[in-house]
Amino acid sequence: MRRIFCPSRVAVIGASPAPENLAANIVFNLINFGFKGEFYAVGRSGGEVHGVPIHRDVASLPSDIDFAAILTPAPTVPAFMEQCIARGARGFWVGTGGFSEFSEGGAELERRIASIAREAGARFIGPNCWGIINMENGLCLPFGRVRMLPFGRTSILAQSGGVGISYLQEMAGENIGLSKFASIGNKADVDEVDLLKFLGDDPGTAVICLYLESINRGREFAAAAAAISKPIILHKTNTTPLARTIAKTHTSSLASDDAVLDAAVKSAGIIRVGTVRELVDTANIFRLPPMKGRRMAVMSRSGGHAIIAADECSRLGFELPPLPNDVIEKVRGRLRAGVISLGNPLDLGDLYDHAFYAEMIKMVLPLDSVDGVVLLFTYHPAMGMQVPEDIILTAKRLSETHGKPVAFCLMSWAEEASEIKKLVDFPIFQTTEEAIRALDRSYRYHLRRNGIPPAPSAIGPGGPSAARTIVDACCARGETLVSYDALGAIRAEGIEVVPTFLAHDIEEVRTLSTGMPVPLVLKVQASGVSHKSDAGGVALGVSGPQDAVAKAIAMKDRVENIVPGAKVHGFILQETAPGGVEMFIGAGRDRSFGPFVTAGLGGVFVEIYRDVATLPAPVDGRAALGMLQSLGGFPVLDGFRGRPRCDLDALCDAIVKVSRLIASDERISGIDVNPIVVYPKGLGVLAVDARMTLETAATGNWQLATGYCSRSP
Ligand code: ADP
Ligand code: MG
Repeated sequence: MRRIFCPSRVAVIGASPAPENLAANIVFNLINFGFKGEFYAVGRSGGEVHGVPIHRDVASLPSDIDFAAILTPAPTVPAFMEQCIARGARGFWVGTGGFSEFSEGGAELERRIASIAREAGARFIGPNCWGIINMENGLCLPFGRVRMLPFGRTSILAQSGGVGISYLQEMAGENIGLSKFASIGNKADVDEVDLLKFLGDDPGTAVICLYLESINRGREFAAAAAAISKPIILHKTNTTPLARTIAKTHTSSLASDDAVLDAAVKSAGIIRVGTVRELVDTANIFRLPPMKGRRMAVMSRSGGHAIIAADECSRLGFELPPLPNDVIEKVRGRLRAGVISLGNPLDLGDLYDHAFYAEMIKMVLPLDSVDGVVLLFTYHPAMGMQVPEDIILTAKRLSETHGKPVAFCLMSWAEEASEIKKLVDFPIFQTTEEAIRALDRSYRYHLRRNGIPPAPSAIGPGGPSAARTIVDACCARGETLVSYDALGAIRAEGIEVVPTFLAHDIEEVRTLSTGMPVPLVLKVQASGVSHKSDAGGVALGVSGPQDAVAKAIAMKDRVENIVPGAKVHGFILQETAPGGVEMFIGAGRDRSFGPFVTAGLGGVFVEIYRDVATLPAPVDGRAALGMLQSLGGFPVLDGFRGRPRCDLDALCDAIVKVSRLIASDERISGIDVNPIVVYPKGLGVLAVDARMTLETAATGNWQLATGYCSRSP
């Protein structure tokens, strides 16, 4: 990657003196940013651009090159790439569009340049991207003119050039210094995983910001992120069906399922944000030492802002511990009107004295009872107030000395705020909520980095377990959706299942149900039926063999009537599970991020509340408990209003086992245990219904199973 970010001799291909020429902007940027190497312009027209002579072809360059920026029509790119390779280049940036994002012909061209580079041992960024910047050596390749940017230690990776520009603008506005920038476009060679690893190792980068519309190698991406100790902030979009159609034409990306992605990136310690502004606030907070606890001191020049702060703190779970008496007394002694009751948040009222504010931070920040300070500063120059530069510098110094954050929030006119931001190398927040939310992200990041053990590594294909044998048998028959056998598979993994038997015909319904405890449950076993109860295929409260036979006959007709094309192959007989809390456990396999597990309140609640937790699979018991605790409905499990606490250990154990089953067998593409009934602590769980989708080697598709019946194993 250094070949791309740190070249010495750069060719800019596609330059001309014409005013609308885009490659000319690259030459302009290299001059403007003071590129430390040599660079040459190449273009058919000849002449010169910004005082730089334009060579008519690559062969006539005065010396060998090691890098080329190519901005010529797509069909000409392969030839230019080959010529540059012949002149020594092993790093490229290809800005041109018209590749895979545009047409099948473009996709073919894209594959060509990828193979040309691969064969030469060269790497390239693009095609179809806006540019790259390295502030350390002045390499500035965007094809639009870039204003000089503040230099620093934050690096940006953006799949979209347009969003990348917004990041640059917003960050420059906050005086957040840039180290490296790359817009990566179609990612035909270098992708987000390569760049993430590079920035992770890059000594010039302290904070990594990512804008991505697609993540192609999800597992590698998460693993790379987990290995990096710098804050990684991800703004991932393209999560809705509508956005997906736009993104396809935009940067030819495919979307992963967002819940899975979210679970995977968060498990890897990545901070996910939803908007450009959130990204900027988060990048800002990492210019400060981390918030290591939840105890905050808020000092405010306005009582109203103090109230906003108190609301936001309590919403996010920050504590506002009382400040020591000597601090309070000191303020009281200085107040002019003395009409304000003092506490935390500390309303500074009519007290306006920069030196005293500095003294307050000096007193409060070192307190053992305080993990961070928020200073809410209203500033009205028209009222003759001094520029608060001195207080900001004090805040910066004290923050560094004590290793605690001071979030400085400036409420003023936009122009005043932006002037002050330029004066200091310190984050300045615009609103109280932004500052407190950013501190919350700092705290969570600190926790994750220091408290939670890394996600368990994937387990390989399991031994000859009983579950595997069942899956083998289903696959051998070309089954793709199994219901009865899914119960067998999870039972083989050690999950308790309500006693279940399979009857192949009406006669067997009679014999099997004789001797079963009543009431019992009768269900249809049919191909083409996924949700049995929707198809009239579940009868609860069956009173005995006679009732079972009568209901089975009626059920067969009903199901085949309700679901056209359904074929009834038999019936499932179950004992009735005692009442408890119905949960579901699901698992699936994401194209990019691999296996995942989900859990939530079961039955109809799933669709209504969408209260579901997701994590990459496999999970351990602790992670499973974390999933349950993150559910809005957790109190239902945890003994709400005097109900007994549920057996969380048994439920977690079941989640762990389902997660292992999917992670250990690639043929399983989905598992759905719904419901699994959870009983009071010590009494365990009972799975009542399950289905499993298999991707059989024979068909490679996920069609519904055709006739399969067997006795309970
Ligand atoms: P499906 O999900 O295919 O419609 P289920 O087997 O999950 O069918 O049955 C539907 C509902 O019936 C379950 O969610 C559960 O509430 C209830 N139920 C099913 N089997 C039993 C059983 N053996 N004991 C108690 N309740 C059951
Ligand atoms: Mg069900």
